[in-house]
Amino acid sequence: MTAGKTASKAVPMVKAEGVHKSFGTAHILKGIDLEVAPGEVFCLIGPSGSGKSTFLRCINHLEQVSAGRLSVDGELVGYREKNGKLYELRDREVAARRRDIGMVFQRFNLFPHMTALENVMEAPVQVKRESKAGARERARKLLDRVGLGDKTGNYPSQLSGGQQQRVAIARALAMEPKLMLFDEPTSALDPELVGDVLDVMKDLAADGMTMVVVTHEMGFAREVGDSLVFMDDGVVVESGHPRDVLTKPQHERTKSFLSKVL
Ligand code: ADP
Ligand code: MG
Repeated sequence: MTAGKTASKAVPMVKAEGVHKSFGTAHILKGIDLEVAPGEVFCLIGPSGSGKSTFLRCINHLEQVSAGRLSVDGELVGYREKNGKLYELRDREVAARRRDIGMVFQRFNLFPHMTALENVMEAPVQVKRESKAGARERARKLLDRVGLGDKTGNYPSQLSGGQQQRVAIARALAMEPKLMLFDEPTSALDPELVGDVLDVMKDLAADGMTMVVVTHEMGFAREVGDSLVFMDDGVVVESGHPRDVLTKPQHERTKSFLSKVL
């Protein structure tokens, strides 16, 4: 068997099978099926309110799915499987699983009273009990990597939105996640600041990070994405290679959405 065939059998990093999510009587996700392979850059697009953030939040244990199966790296989200039985995860177990997943939001969510360096060091020191010296060293390298080696002592208020978002990415990377989730990471930025953040994401992708990216940046999706899913009203309407979905959309809803954003 060739190496390629072995690789194609790798456990998906994310696998959704008939995933539903309701909030009370509001049925938001209506049967999502998709797979994200390790190392893949998986882009998710769709109109506001279609359920993109809700789906990311389910992957990251911030919401429980109402029905269906959702797994990350072969483990069911929210449950532990033992001898064919399912047990709900305890809080401590959820926290442990979440440590392997990095998430970057539209709003940067940095700790305002901490410098860039302290923001990046915080979780490794508090959660992983890493030594301060070791965490500081790694935080410096990460800030260097996102182009902020000269801003380590700045507070969030002394950084532009794009710089804050790059600190947020470095902070997520400090936990050495196996999966990164991005929820419209550039939507709140002034246009001239978007490019630097996308460049950092491209660099991460080139480095082999598995990424699920909710975005309206179709250029990024076309250039960096391995897959593109168009979601509308809680269902996957269309999916495929970004080039195909963007240039030859098959469904009316996809065509109509793309005509508004391209
Ligand atoms: P998108 O990210 O695609 O814009 P969302 O996942 O944020 O969509 O939201 C999809 C729908 O789910 C919206 O109608 C929103 O109001 C609803 N929703 C999201 N979170 C909650 C919640 N915690 N309680 C009730 N409704 C929610
Ligand atoms: Mg959203």
